[in-house]
Amino acid sequence: MAQNSRPVFRSPSLEQETVEELSRRLLEITAQLNASNRSLQHLQQERTEMLANLSHDLRAPLTAIRSAVDYLTSGQSLSAQDIEGALTLIDHRTGTLEHLIRDMYELFTLEDPSHAFSFQELDAPAFLEEYFYAGHLLCLSVSQDLHATLFADPGKLIRILDNLLGNAAKYAPAGTKITLSAAPSADLTSLRISVTDEGPGIPPEDLERIFNRTYTVSSARTPGSATGSGLGLAIVKTITERHGGTVSCENASGAGSIFSVTLPAKFLQS
Ligand code: ADP
Repeated sequence: MAQNSRPVFRSPSLEQETVEELSRRLLEITAQLNASNRSLQHLQQERTEMLANLSHDLRAPLTAIRSAVDYLTSGQSLSAQDIEGALTLIDHRTGTLEHLIRDMYELFTLEDPSHAFSFQELDAPAFLEEYFYAGHLLCLSVSQDLHATLFADPGKLIRILDNLLGNAAKYAPAGTKITLSAAPSADLTSLRISVTDEGPGIPPEDLERIFNRTYTVSSARTPGSATGSGLGLAIVKTITERHGGTVSCENASGAGSIFSVTLPAKFLQS
């Protein structure tokens, strides 16, 4: 059958334009792919580092428990005091392991996007006051004129505050002041909630990586502490970022540190 084909007329300039457009899009896509690849590699590296740190942190208490058990079962005659000492060590190190495993599980769960948060509108000053009066010994600095609403998961916010205030109480000397404050950002788009203590502060070289889950905690941990997984601040960061917020840490001008979470908020002018 004879083909009734008609030549298709294409304007050379149009074709040229299409080719240029396609090459431009191809370049854009390649750049996007390269960026995704880099961030995947970064994530992978972070995960590997964290696993290395965690296995180190799991091994240290296990080794201590193993030697205490070996000591108790060695057959040598032990005084009641020796036995008590070994049992106390086992108890403390088991506490460390429990804490670490709980925090690891929590961090992995929080990082899973399918883990749902119970977001709701929260009156920020009322929420902070209620938290404050639930038995915490500190100074609350929230202006009477502050009318801020957060869209947040209250249970997760409490987890953040517990961690920041718990750290302040753990690292600052007894009897020093711990302040929980809240203030709007200059552009009135977010609320900055801060915990300020009068403790030792953070070494300047650690400020950048203190919220990092790959932060090598062993050297940072208080000696002899049975708790402290070193994952607490990584949990704070993950929860804050899932609320669309940011975290920061700075040293106070005198002594001590200021840990802040900044969360998107709505403000009512009074
Ligand atoms: P940990 O369970 O070890 O307290 P975190 O992730 O909560 O883990 O904190 C990580 C490290 O940051 C701590 O081991 C400690 O060295 C340091 N740190 C946290 N908060 C404070 C603080 N308020 N003052 C001084 N150092 C702190």
